Amino acid sequence: MPALTMNTHEAYVELIRIAREQSVLSSCADLLEWDEETYMPRGGVAHRAEQSAVLAGMLHERQTSPRMEDLLGLLESSELASEADSAPAVNIRELGRLYRRRALLPREHVTEQARAKTMAQQVWVEAREESDFSRFAPWLETMVGLARREAALLSQGGDPYDALVEHYEPGMTTAQLSALFTVLRSELGPLLGSIVGSRKRPRTAMLRREYPVDRQKLFAQAVAAAVGFDLECGRLDVAAHPFCMAIGPGDTRLTMRYSERSFGDGFFAMLHEVGHGLYEQGLPAEHYGTPMGSAASLGMHESQSRLWENLVGRSLPFWAHFYPRLRNVFHEALADVTLEAFHLAINRVEPTALRATADEVTYNVHIMIRFELERAMLSGALAPVDLPGAWNEAYRRELGVEPRDVVEGCLQDGHWAEGLFGYFPTYTLGNVYAAQLFAAAGERGEAFARGDYAGLLAWL
Ligand code: ZN
Repeated sequence: MPALTMNTHEAYVELIRIAREQSVLSSCADLLEWDEETYMPRGGVAHRAEQSAVLAGMLHERQTSPRMEDLLGLLESSELASEADSAPAVNIRELGRLYRRRALLPREHVTEQARAKTMAQQVWVEAREESDFSRFAPWLETMVGLARREAALLSQGGDPYDALVEHYEPGMTTAQLSALFTVLRSELGPLLGSIVGSRKRPRTAMLRREYPVDRQKLFAQAVAAAVGFDLECGRLDVAAHPFCMAIGPGDTRLTMRYSERSFGDGFFAMLHEVGHGLYEQGLPAEHYGTPMGSAASLGMHESQSRLWENLVGRSLPFWAHFYPRLRNVFHEALADVTLEAFHLAINRVEPTALRATADEVTYNVHIMIRFELERAMLSGALAPVDLPGAWNEAYRRELGVEPRDVVEGCLQDGHWAEGLFGYFPTYTLGNVYAAQLFAAAGERGEAFARGDYAGLLAWL
């Protein structure tokens, strides 16, 4: 390595400038992805795959440049890195970790993955429309193959699944996750049994009455703003799948999906994405583009969405404030429904085939199933083409339910089409972190009932 003829301060300034530039470039790819999920015409998919591949290649080249290595080499042993919690030390440590990880991947792998993921997602959408797994199977095989190659390149002889999890939840291991799932299984199993066996059954039929979509949109905007989402610095759009895409400071985009005959599905997915959006809007803009200005991990990100969706959004004080407003907006559907009956309905626990709308008790079982199945595919124990059978078998065994078709079964989530292997466990981590953060935040019910969410948001 050539010795750098600059002091550590100059080296740090340059490192941060480069990191910011990479983040800006990366945000251009994010904007393309947002467009792909919202407005891109179907015919644009092949060209979008090329755009994504070119950008991913450019980004990778910059992220793994010899200049990065030189700067990190100088800075990692400098006094700037010595105070572990200082902004420079955090940035140097994390940028170094990311650099070394990315340097293990050849550019050709990165571009191939970006191209394949765009195509695979499109085929996944079509396979769902036709309820035909066989259309998606070859692409699942491709994505599993790419993930296996990546895990092999990154793990350097260690656990390949650990290497993938590291991308989403730095420091987390397969062994820790397995132990967490074992505890959850032993606690949640009996709890679910006693709830399902109880004679107390909340009525939920009122949630399936008519909820005009235009009014749902207005109500969603109002609630998003009321809990603190800044609509001047973000958008709510409609897409096939709810997600949050942070483009940069001042631009956090959320997508929603509403159904006329289901109030809960649209509303809680909205609140979930708003939770992600609040986290992004709460990141310090002055640190944009560096680890200090980025989400700590996907599990931490998910803890914010789950906290707002479930711990706040399904609580009685929250609805003590919003229910009168809700009943005004949907008076035909809710005129004869009390606050207490509504609150019980939105908290109903019942095993179903679908993860995204699952209740809090069964949700982690859905994740456990995916954790097992994706590890089986990555290890080669389960051939991707055999996924539907293995999926249905797991659902029968773990939840006692039978998906009606592949749309309700193994095609319900798009993560594997996107090449996201090792990602699912972060949902359960999010649930667990959320519960702990919410407990640590202390009793907030009185404020919620007054419509005051700023205190909790500030604490978070
Ligand atoms: Zn989420």
